[in-house]
Amino acid sequence: MKEVPMTRLDIHVHCDINDPEALQRLADQCRREGTIACLSGGLRYGGHDFLPNEEVIDICKRFSDCMVPLAKLDLWETADPAEVYHYAEKGVKGFKCIYPYYEYDHDIYMPVYEAAAKCGLPLLFHTGNYRPSPSDEIYRRPMLRNMNPITLDRIARSFQSLKIVMAHMGTRIFQDEASQYLKIHANLYADLGGSGQWFRMQAHDLAEMFKSDVAEVDVSMKNYRKLVLGTDAYVHAPEIMTMGAVYYMRLLRRIGVPNAIISEIMGRTVASWMNIELDNPEQ
Ligand SMILES: [Zn+2]
Repeated sequence: MKEVPMTRLDIHVHCDINDPEALQRLADQCRREGTIACLSGGLRYGGHDFLPNEEVIDICKRFSDCMVPLAKLDLWETADPAEVYHYAEKGVKGFKCIYPYYEYDHDIYMPVYEAAAKCGLPLLFHTGNYRPSPSDEIYRRPMLRNMNPITLDRIARSFQSLKIVMAHMGTRIFQDEASQYLKIHANLYADLGGSGQWFRMQAHDLAEMFKSDVAEVDVSMKNYRKLVLGTDAYVHAPEIMTMGAVYYMRLLRRIGVPNAIISEIMGRTVASWMNIELDNPEQ
């Protein structure tokens, strides 16, 4: 079988199960579609627990040609920057933050982001909608307010070398304002993860959000450079990865985004932060 060039990188795939067959299926799919998947796991306080970081790292070692690990950071009543250095040493390519006890931009979390900036590793933040679960009654969390995209403003301006991705671009709740923050902060990016985002997003809506603030028509389309591929797939549901990429391509082609920017969005941008060499797309 001819090898497919690895041309894409999906920053947002959840490592929820360790079933060997499911992992093999995901790997086969990644290789077939030429996609490297960034897997994040991590325990949560309620909702659903995913696999522990250490296990995600091990899995990615077994499939190192097509999976790379992100470590989930624990932003609870305290947060420890040592965790960042620990996982950086273990070779993770970035970090995932979700479900913080306080707002993402709370003082006690700032040393954690500072550590990530020092390690030169990107951070993927869940932003926007989060479904209620029975455990919310115990923790009285999460709160949408704590995961509002505005909370990334302080982080982006305080650590300008830190690459930050707003997962879900704030979901429909915060999407319009979230898209505008991308234009303010050079180090702030977004994915359209989740079928609730890429599935419902229409080309004209995305075009309106990403429009230049000065020119009616910006032929450079440079604002689109702030999008990255992230599908919110799961190991148990890898087909989301396929569908998400199809929708991204459909949206970007319909808008008329140039191929060079499309290949940045579909992987080159994030790969460059992670020092990953992607192949050139076949002509
Ligand atoms: Zn997700």
